[in-house]
Amino acid sequence: MVSTSTSTSTAHEALAQRRVLRTAIPGPRSLALAERRAVAVSAAVASTMPVYAARAGGGVVEDVDGNVLIDLGSGIAVTSVGNAAPRVVEAVRAQVEAFTHTCFMVTPYESYVAVAEELARLTPGDHAKRTALFTSGAEAVENAVKVARAATGRPAVVVVDHAYHGRTTLTMTMTAKVAPYKQGFGPFAPEVYRASASYPFRDGLTGEEALARTVATITTQVGAANVAAVVIEPIQGEGGFIVPAPGFLAGLARWCRDHGVLLVADEVQTGFARTGAMFACEHEGVVPDLVTMAKGIAGGLPLSAMTGRAELMDAVGPGGLGGTYGGNPLACAAALAALRTYEEDDLVGAARAIERLVLDRLRAAQAGDPRIGDVRGRGAMLAVEIVDPITGAPDAALTRAVAQAAHRAGVIVLTCGTDGNVLRLLPPLTIGPDLLAEGLDVVLDALAAQPG
Ligand SMILES: *Cc1c(COP(=O)(O)O)cnc(C)c1O
Repeated sequence: MVSTSTSTSTAHEALAQRRVLRTAIPGPRSLALAERRAVAVSAAVASTMPVYAARAGGGVVEDVDGNVLIDLGSGIAVTSVGNAAPRVVEAVRAQVEAFTHTCFMVTPYESYVAVAEELARLTPGDHAKRTALFTSGAEAVENAVKVARAATGRPAVVVVDHAYHGRTTLTMTMTAKVAPYKQGFGPFAPEVYRASASYPFRDGLTGEEALARTVATITTQVGAANVAAVVIEPIQGEGGFIVPAPGFLAGLARWCRDHGVLLVADEVQTGFARTGAMFACEHEGVVPDLVTMAKGIAGGLPLSAMTGRAELMDAVGPGGLGGTYGGNPLACAAALAALRTYEEDDLVGAARAIERLVLDRLRAAQAGDPRIGDVRGRGAMLAVEIVDPITGAPDAALTRAVAQAAHRAGVIVLTCGTDGNVLRLLPPLTIGPDLLAEGLDVVLDALAAQPG
């Protein structure tokens, strides 16, 4: 944020909450940066948008050519409290002037403890909890597996179809989709097993039927007594914004409890009001043993967390968990400000209002366009699955074309899905209804304009 002003609101006042197209997208400055990038940055790091950001605030991102884009992606569900949210900016500014780093493992500080207290209060369940902080979502997931193995003395980890858990060796192993996440990166981590989960649009199963299938796979191919944990996203993110059939998650939690298996809810994408509840597990009344969190936790500062039952978290010996940057003080200050924002500004309510507005529009569009196979999601985590209207096959090419047309028209929209045929909407929870409606118009117009 380039600002010499001491007022935190200046940048937002300067950045009006509306779409502005000054050049073609990408514009000349972005094209020049793309040329520099091509000879400096690994080609393996891809970007959704062809434009380079200059600043961002609320629900818009301004690029280096002065185009102002509507943000329906939140930097992948991260800036849920809005980009450069005033409370977050203020907290980070105060912290950066106090100290930037001491390492919690060397000289601890209060904000780390305060974040842990807040997460104990906010995560599902009223049992005694402990928290450890890290930097990335993948790191939180890795550490949940470490805790689960140490606490149970069992080796196996069960994950499900369409899962996404990160890009490290262990978490890419846990991730389902081979290209681009795993291609060429083997051998993979041992003792990771995959079962099917629940995908109502594609499998047509009830929660009970899907659960029976999942449990049968675990029982016959892994053995319940060997399983340390089942790790699952309560609503699957990168895999396609898949909401399991009612009862699936609760049944899985019950099965885990009956067999001494820990249930790890990977709420890295679904956490922090995103789905219209503080955590997505709440929709199913599920209380996981361990919860992993990141993305929305700190308004854009890199922070992740694992919160779990005290006796499990404390089963690891001193020094067994940690990391140089884990729970960095700037990130903790940002998290405390973001967490206060979720509650004080009722962003759970905001996510539900977004759900009503967007689902109505998407369902109306679906009624007139057989290429929209499914409309699903919760809160401000909503998606349409695009299919061939005759065969029902996933249509990734059409999905990509719609996203790219929306990008050219000044809307940041992401795709996902194992087959790449899901348009996903992840607006900041603070986005204004007019801006949101305009962004949605652009996306739906882009779909309507594609020959089909
Ligand atoms: C993004 C994501 C991760 C990985 O987080 P990183 O910060 O990219 O390492 C893990 N799990 C889920 C569900 C995610 O959406």
